[in-house]
Order: sequence, then C-alpha cells, then structure tokens
Amino acid sequence: MDLTFSEGELAFRDELRAWLAANDPGPEPSAERAHYAWRREFQRRLYEGGWAAVHWPVEHGGRGATLTESAIFFEELGRARAPLAANVLGLLLGGPTLMVWGTDEQKDRFLGPILSGEEIWCQGFSEPDAGSDLAALKTRAVPDGEGWRVTGQKVWTSGAQYSKWCMLVARTDGAAAKHKGLTYFLMDMEQEAVQVRPLRQITGESEFNELFIEDAFIAGDCVVGGVGNGWKVALTTLMNERAGLAFFLQVLLRRSLDDLIDAAAARGLLSDDVVADRLGALHVKAEILRLTAYRGLTAIERYGQPGPEGSLTKWMWSDANQELVQLAADILGPEALTQGSRWGYELLRARGNSIEGGTTEILKNIVAERVLGLPRAGRE
Ligand SMILES: Cc1cc2nc3c(=O)[nH]c(=O)nc-3n(C[C@H](O)[C@H](O)[C@H](O)COP(=O)(O)OP(=O)(O)OC[C@H]3O[C@@H](n4cnc5c(N)ncnc54)[C@H](O)[C@@H]3O)c2cc1C
Repeated sequence: MDLTFSEGELAFRDELRAWLAANDPGPEPSAERAHYAWRREFQRRLYEGGWAAVHWPVEHGGRGATLTESAIFFEELGRARAPLAANVLGLLLGGPTLMVWGTDEQKDRFLGPILSGEEIWCQGFSEPDAGSDLAALKTRAVPDGEGWRVTGQKVWTSGAQYSKWCMLVARTDGAAAKHKGLTYFLMDMEQEAVQVRPLRQITGESEFNELFIEDAFIAGDCVVGGVGNGWKVALTTLMNERAGLAFFLQVLLRRSLDDLIDAAAARGLLSDDVVADRLGALHVKAEILRLTAYRGLTAIERYGQPGPEGSLTKWMWSDANQELVQLAADILGPEALTQGSRWGYELLRARGNSIEGGTTEILKNIVAERVLGLPRAGRE
C-alpha cells in the first residue's frame, strides 16, 4: 500500500480535522452512565455533521469513503481524543451486515436510526457454552404464526442495557448439521420476555450483560438473510467486527503509549535505561501494528474482504496493550493501583483484551492455519 495520501485524502483529513476542532466532545466523564451519554451525544453531533459512518454508501447516509479515508477517520478521531460513537456495533457490524443480507424494507427501516444513534444495537452471539465455538449455540427459535418464539441464554452482550435491537443467532433446525441449522434475527429488546442482567467486571463497570430470553417474539420480517442461513450472515458480522475495530485499536495503543511517555518524562524517567528500553520496544510494536493495519486494508482493497491480517492485528494489539499497562504500573508504582485512577482502570480493563473479539488462542489458530498453512488443530 502507498502510505502517501492523495490530494483527495488530504482534503478529507483536513475537513475532518477542522470539524473535530470545532466539535470538541469535552472532557471524558468517568462514571459509566455519564460516559455512555457522552458517547451518545457525540454520535448525534457526528450524525448531524455527516460523519457518523464515513464508510457507508452515500445512499444510506454515509460518505462512501474509501478504506484509506476510513482509516484516516479513525486516526483523526484518536488524534482529537474523541470517543467511538455510542452505537459502534450498529455502525460497524449491524449496518454493514444489513447492507449485504438485508431486504430493501429492512434497510429502509433500520439503517437511519442506527446512523443517528436513535436505536442502539447489541450483538447476541456468545452463550455460556458457545463462545469460540459459536456454532454450538443452543438458543432455539420456533415458528409461531407471523413470526418466531425464541428461548435461550446469551452472555457477554455488550451494551445490551442501552439497546433497542439485538443481532441474535439462534438454532431453527435441531436436526441439521451444527452450522446449518442457524438463523440470524433482529430481536426487539423492549419486551418482558427479554431480561437483561448486567455483569459486573473487575473494573467495576458493567459493559456487558447476560440475556435471559423466555419465549420472546420476533416478527417474520426480522429474519436476516433467510431461514437456515444464519452462519453465513454471522460470518459477515464477525468479519466486519475484526476489520472495523482493528484499525482503531492501533490508534488507541499509540494514544496510551504517548500518555505513558509523558508520564515517564514527568517523573524524569526517560533517562532511565530500562524504562527507555521498554518504551522504545513498545514504540516499535506500535509502529509494526500501524503498518500491519494498513496492510490489512490493502488486502481488503485487493480481495474485497478482510484477510487474516485482522486476526494478527488483534492478537498483536492485545499483547502490546497488556505489556503497556504493566509497564505503566511499573513506572507509576502504587499510583497505578489506586482505584479510580486512569492507569488503575487501564491495568484491570486490559485483562479482557485477549478474550474480546476472539481469544488470542483462536487468533493464533487462524494465523497458523490460514497464513502459515499448518495442519488444523485437533486433526491428524
Ligand atoms: C469485553 C468483552 C466484550 C464482549 N462482547 C461481546 C458481545 O457484545 N457479544 C457477543 O456475542 N460476545 C461478546 N464477547 C464474547 C467473546 O467474543 C467471547 O468471550 C469469546 O468468543 C470467547 O468465548 P468464551 O468466553 O465462551 O470462551 P471459550 O470459547 O469457552 O474459551 C475458553 C478458553 O479456551 C480456549 N479455546 C477455546 N477453543 C479453543 C481452540 N479450538 N484452540 C485453542 N484454545 C481454545 C480459549 O482461547 C479460551 O482461553 C465479549 C467478550 C469480552 C471480554
């Protein structure tokens, strides 16, 4: 990939930079609900400014941005210390999935409120016994008049407490092979039959939830991509998840590293050889990650879909970020263990990095099998 921006890309960057300078989201609140409200308000402003989903086609309210422009969008967001929009799962996962598999009526009904943040979306894939092995899921949906009745349990459902719609994968044919009996639904979260129970994390927050679904109703026109086709539709969502977030992750790492370098400088530690060495090593990793993320964009441009680079970037990012927060703790000492402090939070939150969006072991399997061509795990 040519890393020099074209004139059009520079113009896109300058326009966005000017908009972000005029639309400072303000200080980041620490309380969880206030933080979410802050992101929601920022999404409203992005929407009004026409920046909510630059990668969406113009006909659906986006800017039809190229991949490079989308990358520039995330880099500038990071540079301005602006947050990801509140409806990140709708914008990056749900909307693009509907654009591939949805009917015209579904696109008309759902895409607008995703973009404005009026209706928040969550992702109901993982279950207590089906995480990495998603096709093992047990939540069942049976036909009922004009729609479906769904019963089961989901877990780790990020943002479910704020959501109107859930991208839900459920089993509609128990007799079919594991991957074949699944259907992808849009489930209305605002019904008694769907109970959302927040799970408290080590950070004290409840980013994700358990969902208890007891005979919930889903209208027939909320099936996406056809009955029995849920695996393929879910793969579209997962591919968009890794490709969309991969780029922002390296931007976040760079931002944290710059902050840590400032913190070390403020303590006169940049002349300490060990600290300088460890910061230098992290700087190299951050650069490798940035270039690998760009290489991932080239693969999408060339082959029309994300390659295994997304898995590599996610794996490298979680390793590097966990190393970074540990270094922060070493540099700051007890201050990094103080409840409510920025680095105290980062240290605890980073534990989940090697699980969310695909565990490191699964990502290593993908790289081993699809990049290096090694034999599949568990097979002779
Ligand atoms: C912060 C956060 C937010 C999340 N948000 C969502 C969300 O919004 N929606 C959603 O659906 N899910 C969400 N998840 C769930 C996440 O995608 C799953 O946790 C993940 O897929 C792993 O599943 P699991 O937890 O069931 O672990 P398991 O699949 O049970 O794995 C347990 C351990 O075994 C290892 N393992 C499993 N299979 C293999 C194998 N074949 N080879 C080698 N090792 C293996 C794993 O790496 C892991 O260490 C979230 C998770 C986190 C941490």
